[in-house]
Amino acid sequence: RTRLAEWTDRVLPSPTALLESTVARYQREGRPVFRLGLGQPDFPTPDRAKQSAIQAIHDDFTGYTDTAGILPLRQAISKALRRDIGLEYGPDEIVVTVGGKHALFNTINTLCHPGDEVLIPVPYWVSFPEQVKFAGAKPVFVQTDEADGFKVTPRTLAPYVNGSTRLLILNQPNNPSGAVYSKKELAELADFIRERDLWVISDEVYSSFVFQPEGFTSIASFPGMRERAVVINAVSKAYGMTGWRIGYSAAPAEVSEAMLRLQSHTTSNPSSVAQKAALAAIEGPQDDQTVIREQYMARRDLLVEGVRRIRGLECLVPEGAFYVWADASDWLGRPVAGRPVATVDDLAAILLEEAGVAVMPGTGFGSPRHLRLSYSVALPEMQGGLAAMEALLGSK
Ligand code: PLP
Repeated sequence: RTRLAEWTDRVLPSPTALLESTVARYQREGRPVFRLGLGQPDFPTPDRAKQSAIQAIHDDFTGYTDTAGILPLRQAISKALRRDIGLEYGPDEIVVTVGGKHALFNTINTLCHPGDEVLIPVPYWVSFPEQVKFAGAKPVFVQTDEADGFKVTPRTLAPYVNGSTRLLILNQPNNPSGAVYSKKELAELADFIRERDLWVISDEVYSSFVFQPEGFTSIASFPGMRERAVVINAVSKAYGMTGWRIGYSAAPAEVSEAMLRLQSHTTSNPSSVAQKAALAAIEGPQDDQTVIREQYMARRDLLVEGVRRIRGLECLVPEGAFYVWADASDWLGRPVAGRPVATVDDLAAILLEEAGVAVMPGTGFGSPRHLRLSYSVALPEMQGGLAAMEALLGSK
């Protein structure tokens, strides 16, 4: 075996990327798949963003840019942050990155010392623990309950905090559970984080998909939190721009400067053309966001209703993002289509092979009991997938 770097023994491949490649293979082979597994919006990039990118190419805007991203984009992000979460960040406190994932990578590798402990509420987005491990820090998984809506509280966090605890990764709206925190819950968490002298990474990439009337609130917006918070967002989910790879971090200047140093030796600036597209998306009229949110809310209701009809599946009504987090534990140990189901991974494989429905097993998100179904697909595909699942698993 080739002698590879030490981290290769610790860091696992991304299960979502693996599912994507299996689904792509099915499609190449001409087998129909209902894609309820993937985490990308089904609406296209806004025209203004496409036109801006095309114009950028015609204008030869194709050289290196500022490592932190072009100033107009950082100014537009600054304005959007003021509008959306009520916080002031100067352009020198914003780093434009190659997607939200890269902003997280910069942040974790800038804030963590080897051996630091990082609190990760379960269920979590698959890349959090792997990025933490990559940085030489230790993921500490904080269990949540369905009864608490899969949210952490000071009470549930406290037992996991010790002298090595450095930060909490708070992702809300949550992938995969759809949990959204109320202002009151966030205020309590913020008090706890300040009292324990922790930092928080607020992963807000689904902030435009919040269905509760109260809307979205950032934990960074509570008193004394801005100086111990890094806000992460991206154009990926909000504007149907996953492939353009533009995200950003907003953090106190000292942290942003260090992240910029890391970025200057790794990726440099994200694509100049993609930055122009992101600028147009962020700066333009935001009316589409409301339309999309309403569509997604209607789909959510249909998916929840459909899942609750299927034998052996239960779920809460998610308040944000675009996933339903379904408890499938009734199926564990019971055969489906004559095939044994020992794990949710078996169940997901059977659903794909026997019913042509792609869903994500919960294992990579920290739950051996759940399946994640996405409603970021057009209605006919969602309904087809639900019907195929119901035909295979049966009705209640
Ligand atoms: N954070 C969460 C919770 C996500 O689900 C994702 C993408 O799936 C990301 C970050 C990364 O987004 P991007 O595609 O902008 O890198």
